Amino acid sequence: MLSVDDFSTNRFSQSGANELTKAQLDLLSPSRHPDLCFNDGNLAVLTGGNYFLVHQGLLCRHSAPLECVIESLEGKQVRFLEGRLVLELTETSNDVYYFLLSIYDGISALKYDINDFGVVSAILRLATTYEVKHLRADILRGLSYAWPRNLAHWELREARLLSTTGVYEPHDDLLNLLRGKEHGSRFLSTFIVNELEGREPSTSCIYRMEPDGARRRICQAAFEAITFEILRDINGTVCQHNSDPLFAIMDSELMQTREDLLGRAHPSLRACEYCRSEFGAAVDHAREDFWQRLPLWFGVDGAA
Ligand SMILES: [Zn+2]
Repeated sequence: MLSVDDFSTNRFSQSGANELTKAQLDLLSPSRHPDLCFNDGNLAVLTGGNYFLVHQGLLCRHSAPLECVIESLEGKQVRFLEGRLVLELTETSNDVYYFLLSIYDGISALKYDINDFGVVSAILRLATTYEVKHLRADILRGLSYAWPRNLAHWELREARLLSTTGVYEPHDDLLNLLRGKEHGSRFLSTFIVNELEGREPSTSCIYRMEPDGARRRICQAAFEAITFEILRDINGTVCQHNSDPLFAIMDSELMQTREDLLGRAHPSLRACEYCRSEFGAAVDHAREDFWQRLPLWFGVDGAA
């Protein structure tokens, strides 16, 4: 009689595969997953070329759909591996591995960064398919913390990345991560051209009535200086966050009130309060606009 280890043999016997050598059979037979196999496991979860020996009760406790399938298999006893009932899943071995691991070990070690993205998305997909609700809720909570859905939450996240010296230390550059990098760069260039280069002073500008032409241009000169600073930053000579337009746009406003390392204000960057306030509104508008466009640029449905 065929043991379950031999069911692959059975599958191929029709085409003369009963002549296969043991080495060839080993290649065709599913192999024990090197990590997730418990000797006291009572269920073989088979996927691709691997199987996992796990505990039925645990899976059934967390997933009603899996419980249903396992119960339906029990009467039939169609396949066995190492004497255990086989539950065959269509997902890849890797995805199933991370899913099962998350059920056994939890997900507190997940980081939700670029490196963990494949693992996080696999667990989320399977937790959704097999209705492991607490796992799905925990993953979504972790994702929304790391990748907020709105600008205000994104800023809280960015603020957490500011070191005690106020230096920006991003661990995931927004635009290096995603596909819409060119859109982001173009948006920033447009912002510089429309809102900074040759910016007209406010109608309430305190220097507006100055008889001295140079003094009348103080605010315009301040915006020109900011343009220069931003372009220098984009060219990568100053800061490390130059490829994040959200940061660069905000920085164009912050520059006007920032002091240098010796605590001195930059007079050349300082427009009057009225001009700064109008520019601040333009900055807020541009950043919100940028945020709203992100899903489109990166091919993500914003409503999802
Ligand atoms: Zn002004």
